[in-house]
Amino acid sequence: MKYVLVTGGVVSGLGKGVTASSIGVLLKACGLRVTTIKIDPYLNTDAGTMSPFEHGEVFVLDDGGEVDLDLGNYERFLDIRLTRDNNITTGKIYQSVINKERRGDYLGKTVQVVPHITDEIQDWIERVAMNPVDGKEGPPDVCVIELGGTIGDIESMPFIEALGQFSYRVGPGNFCLVHVSLVPVLNVVGEQKTKPTQHSVRGLRGLGLQPDILGCRSTEPLEENVKAKLSQFCQVPISSIVNLHDVTNIWHIPLLLRDQRAHEAILKVLDFQLVSKVAREPKLAEWTERASKLDKLKATVRIAMVGKYTGLSDSYLSVLKALLHASVAMDRKLVVEWVPSCDLEDSAAKETPEAHKKAWSLLKGADGILVPGGFGNRGVQGKILAAKFARENNVPYLGICLGMQIAVIDFARSIMKLRGANSTEFDPDTTTPCVIFMPEGSKTHMGATMRLGSRRTYFNVTKCKSAKLYGNAAFIDERHRHRYEVNPEMVPEFEKAGLSFVGRDESGRRMEIIELPSHKFFIGAQFHPEFKSRPGKPSPLFLGLIAAASGQLDTLLKRSSSVVNSNSTPRCLNGTIVPTKALYSKGHAKKPLESLVNGYFANGNVIHT
Ligand code: GLN
Repeated sequence: MKYVLVTGGVVSGLGKGVTASSIGVLLKACGLRVTTIKIDPYLNTDAGTMSPFEHGEVFVLDDGGEVDLDLGNYERFLDIRLTRDNNITTGKIYQSVINKERRGDYLGKTVQVVPHITDEIQDWIERVAMNPVDGKEGPPDVCVIELGGTIGDIESMPFIEALGQFSYRVGPGNFCLVHVSLVPVLNVVGEQKTKPTQHSVRGLRGLGLQPDILGCRSTEPLEENVKAKLSQFCQVPISSIVNLHDVTNIWHIPLLLRDQRAHEAILKVLDFQLVSKVAREPKLAEWTERASKLDKLKATVRIAMVGKYTGLSDSYLSVLKALLHASVAMDRKLVVEWVPSCDLEDSAAKETPEAHKKAWSLLKGADGILVPGGFGNRGVQGKILAAKFARENNVPYLGICLGMQIAVIDFARSIMKLRGANSTEFDPDTTTPCVIFMPEGSKTHMGATMRLGSRRTYFNVTKCKSAKLYGNAAFIDERHRHRYEVNPEMVPEFEKAGLSFVGRDESGRRMEIIELPSHKFFIGAQFHPEFKSRPGKPSPLFLGLIAAASGQLDTLLKRSSSVVNSNSTPRCLNGTIVPTKALYSKGHAKKPLESLVNGYFANGNVIHT
């Protein structure tokens, strides 16, 4: 097992995660089997309790792990399935050490950061790196480890110490350190400045780690003399200095690395020539095609995302990615119109009339409407109104998790005239509970009652749109993260009124997919299909939404239903390939969502720091 550690210097938001994923893509393209570990030096044991509006989306894995969104990046770029253990946090490490201390495992010794915490980190990495994540047998060849945060952060000190010891433990030829840093240009002189990188490398060396490769982020390509200076002061050969300048979309990053022969530099440090398996020249034809296709798309598809607006675009990262994957596959340039659900509500007409008007005009101008998952009461009425609008006006609609539940509430209220219909999440005393709390385990114990991770959905209606989109699969496995579900007692009434429950779990009691057969495209899913969307393998339901929103649904359905898919793996229906992280830089993600939408999706897919 060999390791590539990716660290970051100077500032956060450099796109370290995308760089690390792209290194993985490049090594995979060289024929190596790649796994990844993300280290988050925060104290939370996992991301499940962190607000998506502060920290970005909570990504959900097959095993129910609620993890940092960077793991989503890795899964999408490398097309792998990670486990919760692939995300290490300070909280997990300390919890494990404290548990051992309580069990008496340390035999009376004083338990300390060095060596106990640092040993725990190293053991964890060594253990998890061995797990196959690509569906094949046996351990992978390389593990890419991304250390979150910036060199110099107090929080990451135990990890830096542990990783320094680890490079010694695994020995030369097995460990490669890639340091991603910033080369800014000062407006006054217009010169590329190397000092911040010099300082961050010095900081790294002061902590006992010498970088093998420098990944230099910049707006424009690096000048040759700048590279020479960096090489001299950071003691890294010029051939190992890779320039990651701004590109039009993130799928160019693996290509940028390849063009600068980053794989050669990494493979040399990792001594790959010496092992029996010799890496080959990287094969990146699909990536090349996909990256340039994205740059050239002209015809747009306008999707209204109706959710809580807080300005942090990362809160819905996987949904945005899944929309992008599907749009590229359907030859459309994605335009996301962000519609704050609160602004759609009647009360907003009085309190904030301008915002109300704007929200409704965006909704009405959209080719398709998506209501993503969510928790809590705020803005729910607005989401219900959005689903109602889509239903009544034959506008393509995809409701995810909460987006399905509110569509059911609207149907009960508007079509079945059950005015008081509600979810017990929003009104525990509702007289018509059409969405209820249905824990898989204990009904009395409130802790850990979320239905999390991969669950199976069986299609009980085969002629429906979603079954066709999934290539006529008998069942599908998708990821979940919810507590509430459609009340199974009310399902016969709903069906009588025209709402179809086409997908259910194995018991038949949990409703997984709803459809309105009379509508152009009106689908709700209790699961989150966005988590399994990949560049080149868009999620079928997203593909359906984009196809319906761009007048291509019939063609798509004919094509996809002719694919006989007897197992649970959704296929890429047209062989087109698509991308991953909308932004190369996390810093960008902290800007308001409009800038993401306008800057990246709408206006030429631009990405910068
Ligand atoms: N709040 C809803 C539930 O718990 C929906 C959750 C979600 O959309 N992820 O069931």
